[in-house]
Amino acid sequence: MIKIKTEAEIKIMREAGKRLASVMEELKVFPKVGMATLDVNELAEKLIIKNGGVPAFLGYKPYGAASPYPFTTCISVNSTVVHGLPSEYILQEGDLLKIDLGLIYEKYYSDMAMTLPLGEISPEARRLVGITEEALYLGIKAAQAGNHLGDIGFAIHSRVKSAGFSIVDGLTGHGIGTKLHEDPYVYNFGKPGDGERLVPGMVLAIEPMTAVGKRAVTQLDDDSFVTADDSLSAHFEHTIAITEGGPIILTKM
Ligand code: MG
Repeated sequence: MIKIKTEAEIKIMREAGKRLASVMEELKVFPKVGMATLDVNELAEKLIIKNGGVPAFLGYKPYGAASPYPFTTCISVNSTVVHGLPSEYILQEGDLLKIDLGLIYEKYYSDMAMTLPLGEISPEARRLVGITEEALYLGIKAAQAGNHLGDIGFAIHSRVKSAGFSIVDGLTGHGIGTKLHEDPYVYNFGKPGDGERLVPGMVLAIEPMTAVGKRAVTQLDDDSFVTADDSLSAHFEHTIAITEGGPIILTKM
């Protein structure tokens, strides 16, 4: 069941989103070649607490997971799409670093992700990053009251496909509120007019996850998802609210 948020709830979620965006703003200039991804995680945790939030992923136990998640961030490098674990891995020149971050403020969740280039990246990698971010904004633009979930997916998929890239299989955006993952699934593909009608008060995490190569992904033992053909992947995410006046990006400063 999709939970429709009141204006008061959206106000709190906007505050949560502002705080998360401000953490991301500081965090995105931090990663450098030679650092471990654990260093990025450590800073993210400090910044969330400094901004009056609670790390949302730390201790989170998704349905079916063996144990609670032990980190504040998901950090996924290169062919890892999402749910990568911070580690001793040392960042290299040319890496694509995806930081996915969640924050709780006044019991409400906010979720955001971005892909960062480490030093000089290949032209193809740069194009993948640009197209994926553009697809996110096209998806958000399609999230108008009266449109349908399929319009969001269609906007995202059309852009990614026309660029010759893939939307990866089996991974979607989601509703968000007092839980990190709420109904509905927000697919990164779809047909205009298909699926649930969008109404004011819906709050969604829209998150295109793309690959240079084929769309198949493999889930590893640590629960991270990697592209089956080992091709590069990108990921951008915003938490948005549907309103009468159009979609509002909550994860913005
Ligand atoms: Mg998400």
